[in-house]
Amino acid sequence: MKRDVALEIAGRGLSHAYIISGPPGPDRDNLVRRLCAAYVCTGREKPCFVCSGCRKAAEGIHPDIVTVGLSDRDIGVDDVRALRASAYIRPNEAARKVYVLLRAQFMKAPAQNAMLKLLEDGPSYAAFLLVVENEGMLLSTIRSRCELIRMDADADCTPPDPDIVEAAGELAGRMLGDSELALMRFCAGAGKWERNRLAAVLDAAVSALRDGMDQGADVKKTLDSLEQVKCVRGALDYNMSAGQAAGWLCAKVWAGKRRPFIKEVAT
Ligand SMILES: [Zn+2]
Repeated sequence: MKRDVALEIAGRGLSHAYIISGPPGPDRDNLVRRLCAAYVCTGREKPCFVCSGCRKAAEGIHPDIVTVGLSDRDIGVDDVRALRASAYIRPNEAARKVYVLLRAQFMKAPAQNAMLKLLEDGPSYAAFLLVVENEGMLLSTIRSRCELIRMDADADCTPPDPDIVEAAGELAGRMLGDSELALMRFCAGAGKWERNRLAAVLDAAVSALRDGMDQGADVKKTLDSLEQVKCVRGALDYNMSAGQAAGWLCAKVWAGKRRPFIKEVAT
């Protein structure tokens, strides 16, 4: 039986932006629809599929769900400006306002840069779903500000590997902890893994860190860690070896932790 990815994602807490990457088809459409519903749902478990928000989302008539890029024309910079103006008008009915950008990978660089600004400083109630066939065509700056959901057949149907989840939890714990030695040991081990395994652990670490924040982990430390993990994860896509990536992650975390210490000594 297929996992309900939308329910799982919503259960972890919805992010303000997702890239939904995969071939066009009913699976991807379905996920987009269900995620939209989760944003505007007023039920307890989101999406509940029974509240008025969910029903309107399913019918495609919710006033706070806006789809851009329905025509064959690529989304241009003017479209993004119009979207920005619309985003600053508060939602009509729901707590959130959701923008679905279809074929977002064909946005030219100026449009992507305009979009980047909106992702960075848009209103807190606005949420963006960038629907693409291949996220590789999006600027890395855009990718770093969105959570990536890949619709690969495997990723969609296979339950998460407990081994990966455990390693990700351990990494998240060590990144947030105070022992540099513990983190260094982890990274030294991770440097010897296959690159794909490290990539999977880093992806899972993003979820582990977010979960931790929901359970009261230090917000500043978690956000720093999320940024560090996403940055190193991105580098793995550009042929960086597992050894280099693990070493870099360790160095980044270390440098991030030292900064306040140096400041304290200096003052
Ligand atoms: Zn609902």
